[in-house]
Amino acid sequence: MSDLAKLDHWIDGASWAPSAKDYRAGVDPRDGKATVDVALGSESDVDAAVAAAKAAATGWRKFPSMQRMYLMRDLAASIRRNAEELAEQEILDTGKPRSVALTEVEVSAQFFDFYSTLANLPTGDTLDVDPSQRVFTVREPYGVVGIITPWNLPLNQAARALGPALIAGNTTVVKPAEVTSQSTVTLARLATEVGFPAGVINVVLGSGRTVGTAIVRHPDVRKVAFTGSVEVGRTIGRDAAEKIMPLTLELGGKSANIVFADSDLEFAAKEAVRAFTANSGQVCSAGTRLFVHRSIAERFAGMVAEHASKLVPGESYGPLVTEQQFDEVRHHLEDARAHGQTALLGGDIPDRAGGQYVRPSVFVDVDPDSPLAREEIFGPVLSVIPFDTEAEVVALANDSEYGLVGAVWTRDISRALRVADALEVGQVSINTWAPGGVQTPFGGHKNSGYGREKGIEAVYHYTHLKTVIIALESGTPE
Ligand code: NAP
Ligand code: MG
Repeated sequence: MSDLAKLDHWIDGASWAPSAKDYRAGVDPRDGKATVDVALGSESDVDAAVAAAKAAATGWRKFPSMQRMYLMRDLAASIRRNAEELAEQEILDTGKPRSVALTEVEVSAQFFDFYSTLANLPTGDTLDVDPSQRVFTVREPYGVVGIITPWNLPLNQAARALGPALIAGNTTVVKPAEVTSQSTVTLARLATEVGFPAGVINVVLGSGRTVGTAIVRHPDVRKVAFTGSVEVGRTIGRDAAEKIMPLTLELGGKSANIVFADSDLEFAAKEAVRAFTANSGQVCSAGTRLFVHRSIAERFAGMVAEHASKLVPGESYGPLVTEQQFDEVRHHLEDARAHGQTALLGGDIPDRAGGQYVRPSVFVDVDPDSPLAREEIFGPVLSVIPFDTEAEVVALANDSEYGLVGAVWTRDISRALRVADALEVGQVSINTWAPGGVQTPFGGHKNSGYGREKGIEAVYHYTHLKTVIIALESGTPE
């Protein structure tokens, strides 16, 4: 056993050592050094967490809505007070630049602020069926909700799902990615400290294969929100089918950024860089297919490469979070090289010495059918693809297994709206590459998933509807 601090589960309002006494070293991706010993959970740890969540479910559901609102606000305030600690943990786990980590902590607080205002949202309707009846619907929580998150935006993804799940009256069992566990445990501790009842937020650490599967298959877990890869999304979908359990699936993307010749090219070029390099490209909604009108394609690609070349590793962007992801991006770059793809910037095979940093790559004249243009890389790798007509670019953009977000750049408002209508995605931005805010519903079409996170919409995805029919006795005449 090492001398490193131990990070344990958070179950029933307290730190909880793993039943099997197993730990694995958490590693700083900037230098490969071990930072913390992270609990490796087992099925029995999941059982304990689900039992705590189930025991807390009735009380939390009946918790006065105003008090639920105050608790959510108190948690947001506590996240802000503890921003330094949370950011430091996120940096140790992911290697993100400090400013990025602090922004993500702030957005995490905003999720709780925003959802606090919706404490009375999940209401139903009164329906006019028959004068002899009073009929209404009520929105009820599912009970115990499982939340499984990836390593790219650990605290944010946890807060994004917890906000609507909790305000709707569910209790939760959260499993962060093994490699980025710290901030989620701190979040649960802060929630307990501000007064969330024990069992409302439980965190079980460990592998997806063991802990994730046990959460999904547990008979008392009635809904799962999963953010991650298509492959694991499918596996969870199969397990959920056995229980007839609803899911929210937030999966991958290969999002299209479409630039017509009449747009503000200088701004569009800067935004195109942000679209594919934010979080070192480890963002499901990254804009990694850049379609540019042929008349400006060469010039515009040059502008994008020029801006991207100014980014500084360790300052503007962090390393890739996992060794596996680093190897995957390497593999994609090797494949691009083997296929003779032309890189205007980068394109070289990164070396791990000095941390898992990958400088941005801009490939031009990319064949839309090549793996480079079709597969999600989850690293800062851009495919620039020229087009001639609006109809052609819409067809190209939609010719993808994914459909998460997209953007269109033009000063022609009719064209912008036509393209926005035609894109098979969950979110489109026009003349900006905008991630949206905590208020904007977010989710995919096709292999990018289903259900919606963020915004008011998400609350509905954490409730189900009950219809109540009351027979009215006719009154006795006075
Ligand atoms: P991943 O392998 O799918 O893992 C995501 C989470 O699922 C992790 O907590 C993982 O645990 C867990 N998991 C793995 N196998 C599981 C199983 N059989 N049952 C239950 N849970 C399981 O994804 P990743 O490689 O970490 O993240 C990258 C992917 O996530 C990309 O494809 C990206 O597009 C997608 N993503 C999507 C969004 C979105 O909002 N749409 C946001 C971020 C990322 P361990 O890793 O600890 O084993
Ligand atoms: Mg994985």
